[in-house]
Amino acid sequence: MNTHPLTKPLRRTGLDVLGDRPWGSHFCLFFDTKSDLLEILVPYFKAGLSHNEFCFWVLAAPLNEDDARYALRQAIPASDRHLIDRHIAFMPSEECYLSDGVFNLDRVTSEWGARLNGALSAGYEGIRVTGSTGWLETREWPDFWKYEANLNESIVDQRMTVLCTYPLVGSGGSDILDVTHTHQSAITKRNGNWEVIETAALKHAKEEIRKLNEELEQRVIARTRDLRVAQAELARAERLTTMGLLAASITHEIAQPIGAMLVSGGACLNWLESERPNLEEAREAAQRLVQDGTRATEVLRSIRSLVQKAEPRVARLEVDTVIEEVLVLARGELQQHGVAVRTELNAGLPPVLGDRMQLQQVLLNLIINAIQSMSGVHDRPRELVIRCHRDAPNEGVLIKVEDSGTGFDAGSGERIFDSMFTTKEGGMGMGLSISRSIIAAHGGRIWASPGESAGAIFGIVLPSKRGVEVDQIRA
Ligand code: ADP
Repeated sequence: MNTHPLTKPLRRTGLDVLGDRPWGSHFCLFFDTKSDLLEILVPYFKAGLSHNEFCFWVLAAPLNEDDARYALRQAIPASDRHLIDRHIAFMPSEECYLSDGVFNLDRVTSEWGARLNGALSAGYEGIRVTGSTGWLETREWPDFWKYEANLNESIVDQRMTVLCTYPLVGSGGSDILDVTHTHQSAITKRNGNWEVIETAALKHAKEEIRKLNEELEQRVIARTRDLRVAQAELARAERLTTMGLLAASITHEIAQPIGAMLVSGGACLNWLESERPNLEEAREAAQRLVQDGTRATEVLRSIRSLVQKAEPRVARLEVDTVIEEVLVLARGELQQHGVAVRTELNAGLPPVLGDRMQLQQVLLNLIINAIQSMSGVHDRPRELVIRCHRDAPNEGVLIKVEDSGTGFDAGSGERIFDSMFTTKEGGMGMGLSISRSIIAAHGGRIWASPGESAGAIFGIVLPSKRGVEVDQIRA
C-alpha cells in the first residue's frame, strides 16, 4: 500500500472532469442543487461499483437514502443492480460523524481505517467514499477542518478515494478557500460545465512532479544512449576478436588467389609474347585471373563489412546470400580443421529486414563455435550443416546451424546464452549473449538444442515482414 505516488495504479473516478486518479485521492465538490449533486455522485459510485471497490455513501440534506438508491438504479443496468445491495453502504451523516451528538476526529478517522481494512480483507480493491457536510454546525467547523486536513495527508498511502460534498449556499468565499486547501482538487459547476479548481499548492506539486518526470526521462534517455554505445563497442570488440581468430586462415584465403593471379598473369603474358601468340589460351588465363581477383575481393569485402565501425543499416536481405558471404570468410578455417560443409540454402525465401553486418556476426560466431566444438572430435566426420527455409507459422525464415562436435550438457541449453558463460580456456562467453541481443533486436529468436546423435543445433527465426529495431544494438 505504500507505493510511490507516481507508480500507483489509476482508478476511474467516473467523472470526465477528474479523469483517472490514483488511490489516495481526496476531492471536494461544491454543489448548488440536488441534481448537481446527483450528476456527480451517481457516475462516481457507478465507477466504484463496477471496479470492485466497496462504496460508502454518507447522506445528508438535500439527499436521503431513497433519492440515492433511486438515482443509482436509474444509472445501473438491471443485470448489475445487485451491486447496489451488496457493495454499497448508505449511512446517515450523523451516524458516520457524530457520537452522542459530538464530532470526534480520532474516532471518525479510526472508523474509516477499520472500514478500509474490512473491505480489503473481504477481497475489495479498496473503498470509495463520499462525505457530506450538510449536517455541519458552525461549532464543528474547526474540528472538521482538522479532520479534512488530516485525511488529506493520511489518505495518500491508502486504497481509498474520498469525495466530500459542500453546499455552495451558505459557504462564504473564505470557507471555499479553506475547503479547497484541505483537498487535492475541488470541482464545481460554472456556466453549466463542471470545472476543477486547483489550489496553488496542488499546482505547485504538479509542476514539481512534471519537472521531476522530465528530469527522469532525460536521465533514462542519456543512460539508454550510453548503454547502446557500450553494447555497440562490446559487439565490435567481439567481432574483432572473432576476426582475430580467423586472421591466419583469412590471410591464406587472400594470399591464395593472389598467388594464382600471378601465375595466370604470367601465363597470359607468355601466350601473348610467344612467337605464335595463342589468343585462346591467353583469354582463358586472363579469365582465371579475373576469377581469382574477384574471389580475393569478395574476402576483402566481407572483412571490411565486419570490421568497419558503421551505424546500423536496415535493409531487405536474402538470408542465403548472407550465409554464403560468411562462409567465404570461414572457408579457410573450416578447411584447416577438416570440417566438411553442407548447405541447404533455399533460394526464393522471403527477404528479411535486418542489418547485414550484425547477422553476419551472429552466423560467424555460430560457425566458429561449431569449428571449436568439432576440433576435439576424432572418431566421426566433422560436419557443419547450414540450412535455411521458410518458417511457416511465422512467415519468416528459419536458419539451422548443426555440427557434429562435442555438444553441450542437456542442462546448459539456456545458460550458454548468458553473458560470460564459457567452457573454453580463454573464452569470453560473450558471443552467444551478443548474438541473442542482435536477433532479439531483429524481432527474432535464437535457441540451442542437442544434435540428434552428437553435436549441437542452433536455430534462428527471423521475421520477414515485421519492422525491426536493430538500432537497439548499435554495433
Ligand atoms: P565463448 O565461445 O567465448 O565461450 P560463446 O558465448 O560464443 O562464448 O559460447 C558460450 C559457450 O556455449 C561456449 O563456451 C560453449 O560451452 C557453448 N557452446 C557454444 N557453441 C557451442 C557448440 N556449437 N557446441 C557446443 N557448445 C557450444
